[in-house]
Amino acid sequence: MQKVKIPISIEPAKAALKRMTYDGIIVKGGLTRLAEVANVLDDHITAAIECGVDQQGLVVVKGKASANLELTCQRCGGDLELSVSTDFIYTPVRNAAEESEEPIPEAYEEIELGEYGEINLIQLVEDELMLALPIVAMHEPEDCSITEKDMTFGELAPEAADEKKSNPFDVLKQLKN
Ligand SMILES: [Zn+2]
Repeated sequence: MQKVKIPISIEPAKAALKRMTYDGIIVKGGLTRLAEVANVLDDHITAAIECGVDQQGLVVVKGKASANLELTCQRCGGDLELSVSTDFIYTPVRNAAEESEEPIPEAYEEIELGEYGEINLIQLVEDELMLALPIVAMHEPEDCSITEKDMTFGELAPEAADEKKSNPFDVLKQLKN
């Protein structure tokens, strides 16, 4: 089945009235910030988004997104494949700094509307995926090419090398020769 592309921007108010749903893909070329921190493995990521109005009368943009990524393991420096997925609920606000008359449920994140009452869906999904990334990407210990033992060794080695380099006696030795 051919997947549809998620529109770059939508007008949430209109989309909510029509109860629009978008189930599709975002090609990786559109995710430049994500591409800076991870290698997007497929040519796209997937996202499903639905727009509606909640019981309180707030416009909501709800969805999920997932991506297959390759990160660099912070322990061994090797490639680390990771599937990242995220769920989100946004409610658009005119001005994020202003207090809205209606209290916004805590489960909702606020997203500021653009000049024309639009939001950038691609940016929103990208933000969510970036937030879903691990703070420190690392293999599971059993999958990592560096074991705990190597790690201790690895940490000590550069220090030892530095000490040797800055050993004043080595300099003296060189001068004597
Ligand atoms: Zn590793």
